[in-house]
Amino acid sequence: MIDDDLRASRLTADKRPELQISFEFFPPKTDAMEEKFWESIGKLAPLKPRFVSVTYGAGGSTRERTLRMVRHITSDTGVPAAAHLTCVGATRDEIDEVVRGFAEVGVKSIVALRGDPPEGIGKPFSPHPQGYQNAADLVAGIRKLGDFDISVAAYPEKHPQSGSWDEDIDNLKRKIDAGANRAITQMFFRNSDYLRFVDRARKAGVKAPIVPGIQPIHSFKQISGFAARCGASIPDWLAERFEGLENDPDTHALVAAAVAAEQVTELLDEGVTEFHFYTLNRSNLVLALARLLGRRPD
Ligand code: FAD
Repeated sequence: MIDDDLRASRLTADKRPELQISFEFFPPKTDAMEEKFWESIGKLAPLKPRFVSVTYGAGGSTRERTLRMVRHITSDTGVPAAAHLTCVGATRDEIDEVVRGFAEVGVKSIVALRGDPPEGIGKPFSPHPQGYQNAADLVAGIRKLGDFDISVAAYPEKHPQSGSWDEDIDNLKRKIDAGANRAITQMFFRNSDYLRFVDRARKAGVKAPIVPGIQPIHSFKQISGFAARCGASIPDWLAERFEGLENDPDTHALVAAAVAAEQVTELLDEGVTEFHFYTLNRSNLVLALARLLGRRPD
């Protein structure tokens, strides 16, 4: 049994370590989705996140919408916005132009990614002949264009295209050495995978923060599909918890809240002080999780 006094999740506000949180959104496709997007941002903004980030659709397909959303987040809510950017299928000049566009609308943070081929992560990646070769190359390019805060991706279960752990961690190190400020992880559901990954990275000399990416399971079916597509695994015990709840949304929502609460409080007790939430443009579960971490709306 762990003594409650030794658990950060059991400390009151005056004794709790300082936390940093960030929220990830995707650019809405329809007016109705956009309304929901702003409603959720409105609810989460008072939690004072480090930033709200907006993803960049596969191959730059949401370029204009991502730019519009980050511009409005920055100007209308006062919350710092971070723009995701991938270098797949574009020349260096095209990407540099997008980066300048972000700077012009006041965006100072970029989540710099390689992206995937249109056929998905399972297919080999070929960089554009005049393009950035990978995420490390992109980070170095962004650094030349301005004083941005840069986040990169990390994979607690190893990127599916990394041949070995050494290759995977070397790649993360290259991204940090190229000038990234932190890594944000892919979703994971076994905290031991994340903690072991951080250990590996520290042993290899990676000193930058490695922020866990937390994916609340609003819909087990949908999240299992996302996980399969990005190479994250669903442990059997997790699948068992959601088994048979397809037609029972109330119990599904309660189990989802319990699973996410367990994940973040365990990480907090392990000494983790930075969290990135994949919101899927919803606020309810994330608001509750932030409260469990001791963060309340201002
Ligand atoms: P990289 O770090 O470049 O690495 C990818 C793989 O290539 C690794 O296996 C690495 O070891 C290998 N590699 C890299 N360089 C070399 C080299 N020189 N030689 C040999 N092998 C090499 N995708 C989107 O399309 N839009 C988004 O907005 C988006 N946001 C994301 C946010 C987060 C937090 C995360 C974790 C992922 C996100 N992704 C997004 C997905 C991401 O684009 C994919 O996971 C992609 O497959 C890898 O991107 P990366 O930046 O990690 O690539």
